[in-house]
Amino acid sequence: MLTESVRRPDEAHSRTTVPAGDYYLGRVNAGQTLRILDIEGNQAADTLFFSADDSAERYSATDTLREQGNVYLSAGSILRSSRNRPMLEIVADTCGRHDTLGGACASESNTVRYDLEKRCMHSCRDSWMLAIAEHPEFGLHKRDIGHNINFFMNVPVTAAGGLTFEDGISAPGKYVELTALMDVLVLISNCPQLNNPCNGFNPTPVEVLVWDH
Ligand SMILES: [Zn+2]
Repeated sequence: MLTESVRRPDEAHSRTTVPAGDYYLGRVNAGQTLRILDIEGNQAADTLFFSADDSAERYSATDTLREQGNVYLSAGSILRSSRNRPMLEIVADTCGRHDTLGGACASESNTVRYDLEKRCMHSCRDSWMLAIAEHPEFGLHKRDIGHNINFFMNVPVTAAGGLTFEDGISAPGKYVELTALMDVLVLISNCPQLNNPCNGFNPTPVEVLVWDH
């Protein structure tokens, strides 16, 4: 569902540009709102959410999809935790569809899917691992890296139940906005993938904005 935001970027309390191949790691407290802006379009933002109080409680695709009865995320979706508690609500969305089935790229999957020579390419999993290593103050560890949301990524489900990575449906200036329903940690890898069309073969920056309400 396409829903525009009423929030003004100049009233955000933080604005962070995240280049492709880089990460964002931050805390968003209950009642605060996070926006991820696809600056140039056709980008994928691979995102993990954790309870700020206990990282063992984290975003759960299965609980989220079962409770909403739909495989796509958009405005109105409640993101649920591995304890089936509401974590965040998507309150605005100008893209219209976000994937939660396709997973994140990794050195290993690049090697298996594409070529052995892709082993040293940047990947989302590497960016997440770098983030938790550079920021031990958040208390995240390797075991906390689980399945993720691919904001702006287009992974349509076929009539036969198949999954394919398709050219994106996002465009310059599209955004998704989420209000936290509990205190959460947000870990985003701005995907550097060059082997499939999730970034239009041209990874570009995203901007992360946070409002206090
Ligand atoms: Zn990726």
